[in-house]
Amino acid sequence: MLARLNDLLDRRWLTNNGPYVQEFERRLAETVGVKHCIAVCNATVALEIVIMALGLTGEVVVPAFTFIATAHALQWQGIKPVFCDVDPRTHNLSPAQVERIVTPHTTGVIGVHLWGRPCEVEALTDIANAFNLKLIFDAAHAFACTYRGRMIGGFGDAEVFSFHATKVLNAFEGGAVATNNDELATKVRSMRNFGFAGYDEVIDLGTNGKMNEASAAMGLTSLESLKKFIAINRSNYEQYLHQLQGVTGIQLVAYDASEECNYQYVVIEIGEAAHISRDELQEVLWAENILARRYFYPGCHRMEPYSLRFPMILRLPGTEFLVTRVLSLPTGTAVGHREISRICKIIRLAVANGERIRQAVSVSRQER
Ligand SMILES: *Cc1c(COP(=O)(O)O)cnc(C)c1O
Repeated sequence: MLARLNDLLDRRWLTNNGPYVQEFERRLAETVGVKHCIAVCNATVALEIVIMALGLTGEVVVPAFTFIATAHALQWQGIKPVFCDVDPRTHNLSPAQVERIVTPHTTGVIGVHLWGRPCEVEALTDIANAFNLKLIFDAAHAFACTYRGRMIGGFGDAEVFSFHATKVLNAFEGGAVATNNDELATKVRSMRNFGFAGYDEVIDLGTNGKMNEASAAMGLTSLESLKKFIAINRSNYEQYLHQLQGVTGIQLVAYDASEECNYQYVVIEIGEAAHISRDELQEVLWAENILARRYFYPGCHRMEPYSLRFPMILRLPGTEFLVTRVLSLPTGTAVGHREISRICKIIRLAVANGERIRQAVSVSRQER
């Protein structure tokens, strides 16, 4: 990484489609097996660009159980995100629900491969074809994962990766648009760079979505270690699986062993049988300086500006079930086997003492 940084400083080509960005794009496209990978400054801007390049308008269907950027990328350009429920078993868009909420104003669907587990790509593709909708996948979690043996990145009209520091492939900040559509790729490339087509010819509306050389250098360096990161993630995941086995009411979100997966997320669901709620368990872990995180609470449809702007009485039972039950546990290269053992032991103890913890937490809340 330092050699690459020295190199780019010597070259003084710091941004504007530099050699590292070009190399990063080639490597990404090879890894994913897709015709075009266009590097962007982050995944949110990448989503905004694809949405614009595909000409989406009116309404676009998105899951309510996702990171808020998926919805914001639409609303930012005045397109209404229509929140769809997820299947509580897969945590992903329910194709049956998508079909139910499509209206004459719907122009597209954005599926999210949550935790790196692929959406029901085939069913969503059928729906998109049947209703003449564009189909985008927010693949921010799903770099290096497969769907039916094929790498994620080549499905729908386009897929968007994130290389934010918290994601499996890190470019400090970064993202990419992956597509097999030549025309779309050209358009995204131009829109990423203010709509320029050549040296001083502007042919379209655009924004500044360029990735800089330092980020591309970090992306290339991370790509070289990707296999190692995934092996560590997988070993962490398997340790959690083993050590949380038999803890009443605690269920680790499973990955399909017949697919490639990056194992970037260790997520548990806390069920009724645990006698401790998700929030109580989080409180116990935080008190032990273990930064377990709940995700996407209370659901995008209940966040602003959406819950005020669209005060429809939304019943999204799958989403509402998950937002109160999932907890993501620490993993990655900085978390060792001893820490995971300790975390699992604390979870086991907390669940075994659920009733007493519930009373203690409620007393401490009253005192606050
Ligand atoms: C991280 C993330 C994003 C945003 O990615 P950035 O690169 O940080 O803009 C979008 N969608 C999902 C599901 C994410 O997890």
